[in-house]
Amino acid sequence: MIYFDYNATTPCDPAVVEAMLPYFSGKFGNAASKTHAYGWIADEGVEQARKQLALLLQAEPQEIVFTSGATEGCNLALKGTYEMYGTKGRHIIAVATEHKAVLDTCRQLQRRGAEVTYLAVDNQGLVDMEALAAAIRPDTFLIAVMYANNETGVLQPIAEIGRLAKQHGVLFFTDATQAAGKLPLDVNRDQVDILALSAHKFYGPKGVGALYVRRRDPRVRLLAQMDGGGHERGFRSGTLNVPGIVGLGKAAALAMESMDTEEKRLRGMRDHLERSLLRLEGAMVNGNPERRMGHVTNLSFAGIKAERLIAALNSRIAFSVGSACTSASREPSHVLEAMALGEERIKGSIRLSLGKFTTEAETDQAIAWIAEAVKREKA
Ligand SMILES: *Cc1c(COP(=O)(O)O)cnc(C)c1O
Repeated sequence: MIYFDYNATTPCDPAVVEAMLPYFSGKFGNAASKTHAYGWIADEGVEQARKQLALLLQAEPQEIVFTSGATEGCNLALKGTYEMYGTKGRHIIAVATEHKAVLDTCRQLQRRGAEVTYLAVDNQGLVDMEALAAAIRPDTFLIAVMYANNETGVLQPIAEIGRLAKQHGVLFFTDATQAAGKLPLDVNRDQVDILALSAHKFYGPKGVGALYVRRRDPRVRLLAQMDGGGHERGFRSGTLNVPGIVGLGKAAALAMESMDTEEKRLRGMRDHLERSLLRLEGAMVNGNPERRMGHVTNLSFAGIKAERLIAALNSRIAFSVGSACTSASREPSHVLEAMALGEERIKGSIRLSLGKFTTEAETDQAIAWIAEAVKREKA
């Protein structure tokens, strides 16, 4: 079985598991217990992870808030700022291709009185900077644009958006869940105010993530969405998931060491995979081919339903159609719909995402199997 669904989730790196293990039993203390060594030792693990996360983002450790993942991070960013800044302005700008963690939260805020502009993208998935600038209103308090798209890998012009937001005194939130641990991030270079990430997308455990919250220029205020105890500077109460946080920190440290070489290695394999599959009749890439992450390809095969390819291949290759996160609902991908690719191309789209444990032999095997399945469907 070949795993080509790293954008849905990744296995834990064995070194991450090893780093976590002592914190389940030996070092089991509550990081908030200040009166004894059990607590101090757990707290040391958490603070080490906070530093590792800060390095990953070029931020300060005090700017890292641990969460249960990116869904919670996106909720805290959007709802937390709305409740703090909502009297000054009620307008949010988001992009139509955002993850559901952002889109569904925006819809919820609309029920509470927020006004949301959902920006269109071009047919390669990119935001138009002029349209973004034109959408800013006097009452806009937040711009939410994801760093890299989970379905296509398309990278938005984050530094340009950061500059624009700063010029207008608007907060800038980016869901960087697909980019974190894979590309060099820098919240000051990009003038990001809030950033969400999740451990399980870069070889850490599931159910843990972090939210970066800027402390200077400006000092971002968020209303907590989880009350009780005042953990994480009051932004997020609840006993910390110490093993998970230690695992997230370790994943961040490993990513710092390997992301450059790994990006090139994966890009090489992805390009080979993509070039080979594009030789098939009617094959095309979805998403801007240049401004895109190196480990993912989203392809359509004209006249073939992706469901048919899943049926033909899912005992041998794990990959997804549309978005894994919404595939329960079996709706056509909202990302490809926002790119206006047309129903046939959307229904024919598959996403192959590679990762740390992908080998060249697996890539070659997958090319052969997918090509065979496509040709059989055509016949
Ligand atoms: C996976 C993902 C999320 C949700 O993260 P969880 O930690 O699984 O809640 C949000 N945004 C993007 C872009 C993602 O890829």
